[in-house]
This record gives sequence, structure tokens and C-alpha cells, in this order.
Amino acid sequence: MEKKLASSETTELFVPTPAVLTAARMLTATERLLTLRCQDGLPLGHDPGQFVQVSIFGLEEAPISICSAGRADATFELCVRRMGRVTGALHELKPGQEVGVRGPFGHGFPAEELAGKDLVLVAGGIGLAPLRSLIQHCLAHRGRFGRLTLLHGAKQPAELLFREELPQWRRPQPGTPHALRGGQVRALHD
Ligand SMILES: Cc1cc2nc3c(=O)[nH]c(=O)nc-3n(C[C@H](O)[C@H](O)[C@H](O)COP(=O)(O)OP(=O)(O)OC[C@H]3O[C@@H](n4cnc5c(N)ncnc54)[C@H](O)[C@@H]3O)c2cc1C
Repeated sequence: MEKKLASSETTELFVPTPAVLTAARMLTATERLLTLRCQDGLPLGHDPGQFVQVSIFGLEEAPISICSAGRADATFELCVRRMGRVTGALHELKPGQEVGVRGPFGHGFPAEELAGKDLVLVAGGIGLAPLRSLIQHCLAHRGRFGRLTLLHGAKQPAELLFREELPQWRRPQPGTPHALRGGQVRALHD
């Protein structure tokens, strides 16, 4: 499929693409996971770790990390912490409603350079959102990477993100001893 462009050579850089909310659920008291698909049906074509500018039409826009790896159905996910106007509106968005999306932007993680290496992934709080796209990428191409270890902390246990996905991340893949070592995952208190 065609890859979206975010280069200075295209006016697409400044024009939001309408994207529809296909699903949403609360992950914690303050973080909501949104699943979106661009109305043009094209994938974002993003690298793990990149972000998009998400606009609420008539309001303004905010940068939000893409927290999923590229998918065949062209959907992508955003983990949004309720902070103010844009993120508050994203928490109120109903399935079927639209936002604007520009990007992807940012350099992302150097997935090709990381190939063949053991990786220790470290994230605090919502920092796990951009890292999740790399985790999903590594698990989708498990044979390309060495040992994967995740160290993730949060101020309170209830604030740990994507807890329900940890068993799936840990599940051994065919031909590899394990998927991702997550035994170190625990909440870090002040
Ligand atoms: C590259 C990048 C990636 C990001 N990825 C994510 C992501 O994946 N998920 C996510 O939820 N957020 C992410 N953010 C942060 C997000 O962009 C901001 O929280 C958002 O712009 C706030 O916009 P708003 O309109 O909701 O709040 P506003 O109405 O602009 O602000 C409301 C109030 O909250 C304060 N405030 C705003 N943001 C923060 C903050 N982060 N920390 C403390 N106080 C703040 C403001 O100073 C203001 O007083 C990212 C930011 C960057 C730069």
C-alpha cells in the first residue's frame, strides 16, 4: 500500500487527513487507548516511535505518539492522557467521530540498526506508549532481534499501562526461547 508522506516537499505536511475513531477504551483513570483509521484507507506508514499531530477540528492540535506498529488493516493506536483541551476532547470522542491527523513525524527508533542485538527497553509512565510500537514491531519480527527485556515503572501500580498485554508479550514465539522478559515490571514509588 502507498505510504503517507511527511516531507517538506509536500503540502500534505500541513493538511490534516481525516481519521475516524473505530474503538476506544480506558487503560487507567487518566489514559484512554484510541484506535483510528484514516478515511482515505491508507496506513500511516510510520516507524516505531514516531508521533502524529492530532487535531480536533475547530479547536487545535496536539502531538501524540503512535503506540502501535504498522498493521495490515491500516488502523493505528494512540494512548492519550487527559491533560487539557485537545486530550480532553480525545477522551470524549465517540466511535465514528473524526479527528485530523498530520504526520507521521519524528525520527522514531532505529529498528534496522537494532536488528540482531539484545534490547533493554526502559519506560516510565506514559513513556511506554511510543515504546509499545517498538515492542509490537520486535514481536512481529521476533527472529531479527536478540533478547528483549522491558523495565517499566509508574508512580502507582494502578498507573501501569498495558498490563493486560504483558502475558501476550511474554509468550514464547516459535523458534525463540521467549518473547519478552517482563519479570522486572513493577511500580516504582516516589
Ligand atoms: C513528541 C510528543 C509526543 C507525545 N506523545 C503523547 C502521547 O502519546 N500521549 C499523551 O497523552 N501525550 C503525549 N504528548 C503530550 C501531549 O502532546 C500534551 O499533553 C498535549 O499537547 C496537551 O494538549 P491539551 O490541549 O490537551 O492541553 P492544554 O490545554 O494545552 O494544556 C492544559 C494545561 O496542562 C498543562 N500541560 C499540558 N501538557 C502537559 C504535560 N505533558 N505535562 C504537564 N502539564 C501539561 C499546560 O501547561 C496547561 O496548563 C506528547 C508530546 C510530544 C511533544
